[in-house]
Amino acid sequence: MDSRQLIDLADAYGAHNYKPLPIVIEAGEGVFMHDVEGRRYLDFLSCYSALSHGHRHPRLIQAAKDQLDRVTVTSRAFHNTEMGPFLKELCEFCDTEMALPMNTGAEAVETAIKAARKWAYVAKGVPRGQAEIIACGDNFHGRTVTIVSFSTEPLYRDDFGPFTPGFRVVPYGDAAAIEAAITPNTAAILVEPIQGEAGVILPPEGYLKAVRQIATRHNVLLIADEIQTGFGRTGRRFACDHEDVKPDLMTLGKALGGGVYPVSAVVGRRDILGLFQPGEHGSTFGGNPLGCAVAREALRVLEDERLTERSAQEGAWLKARLAEIQCPYIKEVRGRGLFVGVELYPEAGGARRFCEALMERGLLCKETHDDVIRFAPPLTITREQLAWAVDQVREVMVAI
Ligand SMILES: *Cc1c(COP(=O)(O)O)cnc(C)c1O
Repeated sequence: MDSRQLIDLADAYGAHNYKPLPIVIEAGEGVFMHDVEGRRYLDFLSCYSALSHGHRHPRLIQAAKDQLDRVTVTSRAFHNTEMGPFLKELCEFCDTEMALPMNTGAEAVETAIKAARKWAYVAKGVPRGQAEIIACGDNFHGRTVTIVSFSTEPLYRDDFGPFTPGFRVVPYGDAAAIEAAITPNTAAILVEPIQGEAGVILPPEGYLKAVRQIATRHNVLLIADEIQTGFGRTGRRFACDHEDVKPDLMTLGKALGGGVYPVSAVVGRRDILGLFQPGEHGSTFGGNPLGCAVAREALRVLEDERLTERSAQEGAWLKARLAEIQCPYIKEVRGRGLFVGVELYPEAGGARRFCEALMERGLLCKETHDDVIRFAPPLTITREQLAWAVDQVREVMVAI
């Protein structure tokens, strides 16, 4: 079947909860993807950072194959050989005490919310059923009903109530607003260190540090959602590291699975995650040996290939080259590491048409909201490949 037929099938039988670019991927290798017509594209989105290691990294594929030949899923009714070592290695990588494995990012966020509420009742003494969590405007933490309950994006939320109570939303980047929203019942502050889906929004300098201090001062937990920003994406292991901030809990996902398998986790303080009792929380596939084996190797590859350092170095270069592009439509180029947003003025007519033009030239990226193009290539990308991508962006920006 050709692209058209495959797209028609997806449209005919699939719910239309996405609006993908009209391209059908058949294969991927490293930083490249191929469509069914044999055209080659440079992947400048990386599955929203899940492909930080690139497509089918040989060591990750080998780890998956080796594990496929042993055992794939066991359920948590039994132990398996991979989970214990994975959790230890993940805690060491994150410099933290305990971890709880799940599969998707939204599940990790749900887990963190449950952990914070439990801590509020058991450790802080908040009356049961009264715990509050402070979240930020324009957040993105996933798609469950509870998570969209504190979304400020009408599209994500409006048709899906009734909503889960217990959340307060304050403007992102405003530490004083967080402090003002704290009550005796506040359990946690949930924050993205950089807002990805909102358009690669960086908070003002010192924000994370201030939020950390506020949380400590009021005996409130700081939960950082590092699902998109973690594992080197922003040029440090975690985006909170840019301000030397240590959250009490972190939600992790995306790149943790090496682009091979969905693996997520909540990591953090033992006195919080240690409160879960058997039966209170879980997931059939969470901690399965296949996912754990892949994630262990994903962490090792990050280290061995110095992907975090590469992200910092190559990201700075990319941002500088993009900022040099002379185009009246470009309002701002911003980001950290290989996580860069190009915001266009409204007169540009939306980011989508630029993404389509880049696709025609063999560069795949995606608009986020209307006016931002997000660039997040695999962290394995070379300087030459980046230079080629910048050429395409320049030519599209100048031509349109
Ligand atoms: C992608 C993302 C999520 C949700 O992850 P899923 O695996 O899609 O459920 C949550 N938080 C942030 C910051 C994300 O980027």
